Amino acid sequence: MSLSQLAKSISESPTLKLNETAALLKDKGEPVIHLGGGEPKSKAPIDAIVSCAALLRTGDVKYTPADGIPALKKAIIRYTGEHYDRLVPVENVIASSGAKQSIMVLLHAIIDPQEEVIFPVPYWVSYPEMVKLAGGRPVAVTAADGGFQPTVEEMAQAVGPYTKAIILNSPNNPSGVVYSDEFVAGVVELCERKSLYLIMDDTYNRLIFDGRAPSNCYRFSKDPTIDSSKLVVVNCVSKMYAMTGFRIGWTIGPKDLIRAMTNIQSQETSGPAAPSQWAAVGALTGVQSCIESLRLTLENNRNVMMTRLEAFAGVRAVRPGGTFYCFPDFSAYEKDSQKLSRFLLDKVRVVTVPGKEFGMEGHLRLSYCGTVKEVTEGIERIKWALDPNSPNELYLGNRKIVRDWQ
Ligand code: PMP
Repeated sequence: MSLSQLAKSISESPTLKLNETAALLKDKGEPVIHLGGGEPKSKAPIDAIVSCAALLRTGDVKYTPADGIPALKKAIIRYTGEHYDRLVPVENVIASSGAKQSIMVLLHAIIDPQEEVIFPVPYWVSYPEMVKLAGGRPVAVTAADGGFQPTVEEMAQAVGPYTKAIILNSPNNPSGVVYSDEFVAGVVELCERKSLYLIMDDTYNRLIFDGRAPSNCYRFSKDPTIDSSKLVVVNCVSKMYAMTGFRIGWTIGPKDLIRAMTNIQSQETSGPAAPSQWAAVGALTGVQSCIESLRLTLENNRNVMMTRLEAFAGVRAVRPGGTFYCFPDFSAYEKDSQKLSRFLLDKVRVVTVPGKEFGMEGHLRLSYCGTVKEVTEGIERIKWALDPNSPNELYLGNRKIVRDWQ
């Protein structure tokens, strides 16, 4: 088949593929534990459903403006005022079909061929492929100390004549790490000094633990107005409201950029699906306790996972400060994370995501967005599979597994 060079250069989303694999195995009755997932178990808020259903009931479901319905933009402006202490005019807002589309349209709007976009390792799996889709070159920056947050100097060293933007994602998928204020402030300063776009992917901004407050990048900006600034903030309803299937994200940025993004989006997809936009309006303007309730559940699950991992000899785990991911180092057992992930799925039916997909070998991304039972049993199975001193047999449901490997 004749495919474009671009198509040939883009790989499948490994996390979405794992979801499929897990679903197929579950359908076959396999006792799968999915620690690879990227979505909360809770249901969408009732206000989202009521608002969405009200539109559906009219049967009048039509195209919307390419950058989103006024009611959604109004709700986003309110959200930004409340959580970022910024009053943004409506021309500075665009709603898209999920944060994924927000970032993709944004990259299309700023990248010329071969221009570079920098992000720290470990990174969200989609960044390198998205940058390539937009015709640019991904540049991943690894911390020399082997940690999850490079220094500002390391980021600065990656900046060259072709650099167009930096992406920061904090709390971070996959590490769960919340970047320090010093680091974010340093990168904001670096981008302002070098006139680079800084894309803050705030997808997990509110899902933060240990009494910390969500970070607000605008605090570090010296730019007096949003239109003179290249600081761009992306958010979505996907994770904080457990609304991944609705596909609504948004971008706040300078109005010229937002206009360019709107033009691109208008040609690519038109406005996001109307029922989803109304659902997002419901979520953003309705009762907000669902976020705190999800956050508390995740913090508890994080604690359970950490207790289990800390008791797991040979595994090194950094305590996540947010998200619903943890990114332990399993290299004492196996350095090839894809091999290890496949082994755990084959032998004990636990789904994990190989660290290699996030730019860091030897690690696995483990999600704690499921139940405490899934977290506990998932880690127990992994331990049984990897620890040579484990008992010889393990029951998965009523199936007996015999350990026939070293
Ligand atoms: N950014 C990060 C860091 C993510 O983890 C995800 C989803 N996994 C997204 C963006 C995309 O979010 P959405 O589902 O709203 O497209």
